Amino acid sequence: MEQFDAELLIHIIDRLDVGVFILDKEMNVQLWNKFMAAHSGKPVSEVTGNSIFDLFPELPKRWFKKKVDSVFILKNRSFTAWQQRAYLFPFDHNRPVTGGVENMYQNCTFVPLKNASGEVNAICITIQDVTDEGISQKLLQETMRELEASSRTDGLTQLLNRSFWEFCLSRECKRCVRYGCEASLIMFDLDHFKNVNDTYGHLAGDEVLRQVSLALKQTVRETDIVGRYGGEEFGVIVSDSDLKAGEGLAERIRKSIEQLKIVYEGQAIPVTVSLGVAEFQSDMPSHEKLIACADQALYHAKETGRNRWASYPID
Ligand code: GH3
Ligand code: MG
Ligand code: MG
Repeated sequence: MEQFDAELLIHIIDRLDVGVFILDKEMNVQLWNKFMAAHSGKPVSEVTGNSIFDLFPELPKRWFKKKVDSVFILKNRSFTAWQQRAYLFPFDHNRPVTGGVENMYQNCTFVPLKNASGEVNAICITIQDVTDEGISQKLLQETMRELEASSRTDGLTQLLNRSFWEFCLSRECKRCVRYGCEASLIMFDLDHFKNVNDTYGHLAGDEVLRQVSLALKQTVRETDIVGRYGGEEFGVIVSDSDLKAGEGLAERIRKSIEQLKIVYEGQAIPVTVSLGVAEFQSDMPSHEKLIACADQALYHAKETGRNRWASYPID
């Protein structure tokens, strides 16, 4: 080392695209490179000899002190990645595509500086700008979340698709068995929907399905789980509700859809639905049995005039 003079080393450290600074045991700054000065807005003359905590009151003091103290005591280097703590210093970043990232993401290294007799009287901390990695990871996670949501959602109606809705129903049935709670199920189907397509066209039919789904979402509670079971057939899992509560909701759904004013290309399209309600019984072998019961009631509602609900068992 002796062959390099200190000035040359400082010159090199100042040109690094990494933050480098040195703290003594009292947490006072002993060295502060240009990266740190540029990003903090505090020149070397302002920080030298001063406590890092006085200079940056926003630092996570307890965490930072513990980290630094352990390096002094154990005399080993230590590292923190942005995944654990996004940043140490709240520096701005200069990325045009932010992906919602506000500050520079940082990886930090804490290196003990030993003197000739092996004592550690200072530590060197480096701050690496890893904002690009942070942004790309965040974008990737968001894409994964969207992908996961889209694999659960029906594209036309934005309700849950059949497979995910059925998964929710089977989970609900298991919950009822385990905790002895109640649940009821409503299955419903649009009346004479084939006529809607034949009279107004398939695109008008699609619009009807969208409007019915919207009305459905506005009618149920947040805890009820609505899904598109088939073409023009829907299911509502009514948690913590007995048959009577299920019937009450079925009537509200029937009414809200009957009252819908759907207009497609200037033409009003009247829509009604028939519904079947069934209550979960703990001796049902699976959620499919509950669907079959609600379906049977739905069939009865169709048979006995449509635009009405019926419940299982049929008297
Ligand atoms: P019912 O009152 O007995 O239920 O009579 P229906 O005409 O509604 O029953 P049917 O099963 O004969 O017809 C259902 C129709 O729903 C036929 C099918 O083309 C239509 N359908 C299913 N999925 C979609 C869709 O995504 N968009 C449109 N526009 N129509 C659909
Ligand atoms: Mg139908
Ligand atoms: Mg049908």
